[in-house]
Amino acid sequence: MELSTPISAIPGIGYYFRKKLEILGILTIQDLIYHVPFRYDDFSQQSSVIEANIDEKVTLKGEIWQIQNIYTRNRKLMTKAIFNDGTAPIDITWFNQAWLIKNIKAGDKLQISGKLTKFKNRYSIVSPVWEKISSTDLEQPANTLHTGRLVPVYPETDGLTSKWLRAKVAVVLPKIIGQIKDPIPRELTSDYFTLPEALTKIHFPETLKDATLARKRLAFDELFFTQITSQKTKLEWKNRPTTKAFAINEQKLTAFYGTLPFKLTDSQLKVIREIIHDLEKSQPMNRLVQGEVGSGKTVVAAVIAYVSYLNGLKSLFMAPTEILAFQHYQTMKRLLEPQGITTGLYTGSKKFTKEQVEHPDIVVGTHALLSEKFMTDDVGLVVVDEQQRFGVKQRSVLRTKAKVPHFLTMTATPIPRTIALTLYGELDLSIIDQLPSGRQAIITRVVPSKKRTDAYGFVEKKVKEGDQVYIITPLIEESETLVSAKAALTEFETLKNEIFPHLRLGLLHGRLKPAEKDRVLQDFKNGGIDILVSTSVVEVGVDVPNATIMIIESAERFGLAQLHQLRGRVGRGSKQSYCFLFTQIEESAVIRRLKNLETINNGLKLAELDLRIRGSGELFGTHQSGRFELKFADFSDLELIEKARFAAEKILQEDITLDKYPLIRGKLQSLTGNIMPD
Ligand code: ADP
Ligand code: MG
Repeated sequence: MELSTPISAIPGIGYYFRKKLEILGILTIQDLIYHVPFRYDDFSQQSSVIEANIDEKVTLKGEIWQIQNIYTRNRKLMTKAIFNDGTAPIDITWFNQAWLIKNIKAGDKLQISGKLTKFKNRYSIVSPVWEKISSTDLEQPANTLHTGRLVPVYPETDGLTSKWLRAKVAVVLPKIIGQIKDPIPRELTSDYFTLPEALTKIHFPETLKDATLARKRLAFDELFFTQITSQKTKLEWKNRPTTKAFAINEQKLTAFYGTLPFKLTDSQLKVIREIIHDLEKSQPMNRLVQGEVGSGKTVVAAVIAYVSYLNGLKSLFMAPTEILAFQHYQTMKRLLEPQGITTGLYTGSKKFTKEQVEHPDIVVGTHALLSEKFMTDDVGLVVVDEQQRFGVKQRSVLRTKAKVPHFLTMTATPIPRTIALTLYGELDLSIIDQLPSGRQAIITRVVPSKKRTDAYGFVEKKVKEGDQVYIITPLIEESETLVSAKAALTEFETLKNEIFPHLRLGLLHGRLKPAEKDRVLQDFKNGGIDILVSTSVVEVGVDVPNATIMIIESAERFGLAQLHQLRGRVGRGSKQSYCFLFTQIEESAVIRRLKNLETINNGLKLAELDLRIRGSGELFGTHQSGRFELKFADFSDLELIEKARFAAEKILQEDITLDKYPLIRGKLQSLTGNIMPD
């Protein structure tokens, strides 16, 4: 038996169980070993009936006196047994397990675990876990699997129980554990269990602490392999020749800054420096610029496109949606045309027209730009706005090319640095951590339900003054589904017919066709809609400076950083803007968490708070999910992330080919598919 042996090689696993295991993703012995418990039942308290604490979990050894199936009045099947441990008899009840009477007979010795209750001097346990023991086990500690210890509970599927899985793991683990080789040198993992120890203890720990430590080791491995994959990619990318190293004409650059309608912030200048430093090398840049909504990423991209132009090369600028592409196109045109640079727009629906230049210096567009037609050798720079929408797959288009352009991705998602380095480990990171001065802070208020009407009154008043409003409907599910689209629709009808019958309302949700979405957004942008009702998952990245109020329903369902990103859609013009948070729940902890938004105006700080308050689940919102699924590790464990990163760096520094570490290389090859699903 080896780790790669198919699971069906285990005695007793035929077609039926093979199919069931497949549902759990278990195809090989290795899969079974890595199918780890998600919790443990603590059945370690061994006792006797009369000494046991009532209403607590207890493990008892004794004999079955009688057992039978009976039917209740509403035809439910119950198996009733009397069990005696020598101190007092207990009534046992199991439900819907007719076959039990074939397995358990009167006179059998059993160890059972469950919650002991007492009613009118009768003891009972409902649905105890049980296993048979021998007569001698009655006298001494029994070597049991399902009772009398910390018992692992596994993710199950219909017809495949934890008890079954536990029994198989108990058989397989001791046979295979000797073959498990730790791919990571021990000096890098010395703070943790060895891999075989970890795998043993995660299934059958003696204490909960051991279970936690075992999980930590597996989490370390997971982070290590993630890191080593992305860092290897990064190093290899850096070893590729690019079109050419850019020359920087400082004079022209300074002159260009002078033509901008504003002064660049120190933060923008710092990031431009970091980028230029990359461009001066003959290896392709692969850099992520993180900067919150409104921090001015677009102009940074324009500056870099200008540098590319001065070096005789073209630039491609990709946006996640048509409407954003159009917006960027207008910006680029405005900023760069005075320099004699030609700009074109190319999206799914807007192909080049006759009036447009056939081969402009800058092409702004959507995914459509990823075709061979545009990725010509005279492209020196590719800019991608909102990284999460693109990814590894898109970049791999470039990887096949002999000449690789410089690559700049931009995101507004606030992610703490340590996590960004893990999540986007193959990229270098620059952060714009400053907003242009003179921005008015958005006034944010958590609105108690009794003040809802007042808030609506305020909206009405502002709309009459000519302002526009977003109302974000609750996020019901992870992604845009029929349910959340329907909720938005219901909310929309209520708002339109009952609350704001005299105003013009528009509805936006992810189930609309792209053209329809664009039409609604354009209408809002042109002022044809007063209040835009929208789900949160929909792209509201348009710049509508006239929108000054955002209402967010069921705000408690969002992470703070996500709420911050949402509210960034207002406060884009010179007018004072407002964000009102409505909640379904008015518990003090909920309100306290949300109130952070009233005082904190920094996305990164809010992301860190999210991490502390709610763990990493909240952090990335819906956009990020799928990029990265961690089975053992958690992004809130920054220390572990750092340690894993350090270990990965160390290995690659020593040997980037991994020739010295064939086990790591082998594992990487088998993993690459899983780590970056993009
Ligand atoms: P984001 O980082 O969200 O993409 P944008 O690039 O859309 O931000 O910029 C937001 C707004 O701020 C735009 O209207 C832009 O013209 C303006 N802006 C950018 N940089 C500056 C600056 N240094 N000073 C003043 N306004 C700026
Ligand atoms: Mg932007």
